[in-house]
Amino acid sequence: MRLILLGPPGAGKGTQAARLMQKYGIQQLSTGDMLRAAVTAETPIGLKAKAVMDAGGLVSDDIVVGIVAERIQQPDAERGFILDGFPRTLNQAQALDAMLIEKHMELDAVIELKVDEAALLDRISQRAKEMQAAGKPVRADDNPEAFKTRLDAYRTLTAPVSDYYAGTGQLRTTDGMAAIDTVTDAIDKLLTHDAKA
Ligand code: AMP
Repeated sequence: MRLILLGPPGAGKGTQAARLMQKYGIQQLSTGDMLRAAVTAETPIGLKAKAVMDAGGLVSDDIVVGIVAERIQQPDAERGFILDGFPRTLNQAQALDAMLIEKHMELDAVIELKVDEAALLDRISQRAKEMQAAGKPVRADDNPEAFKTRLDAYRTLTAPVSDYYAGTGQLRTTDGMAAIDTVTDAIDKLLTHDAKA
């Protein structure tokens, strides 16, 4: 199964992707995680991306598309994958379509978590507190200033991606404000009853 999870920062994409990964035995491919790993490892991509990411901006399409193209052909992605945080621009969506055609792969569904934007900053602040309490590193962009930039990027650059998949008939939406288990059940239903409808 090959899925895309869409939704603004703090919508719960990472949480739901982890559950889907367990349930379907498919890989969660988070471009944010891949980029953070590159920053930590100080690879050339990481060095390029760090300042943009810390400020809450988007890393260039070329870099991100290159990372995904390489990642989806790894053996562990053969059974399927959930793209979490990609595509985030129309260019990326079109590049993904082209790479899927080239690799003879098909998407099963694009799932968008609809959320109330006013609640997102609270969720992000909560995530930062939980990470701190667990002794884990807090993301450099989980702060109000970078969050505002991330949300702006979402509104202007990523929202059109939902329209794109609505146009192709692949988009399914669900309420991301519900309890975590309820969202998981709703996604399950979309995938079992509706994804190919
Ligand atoms: P995330 O973990 O998905 O919130 O991503 C964290 C940061 O990584 C984003 O704010 C961007 O700076 C960068 N990033 C992740 N995915 C993408 C993408 N598809 N396109 C551009 N930048 C990305």
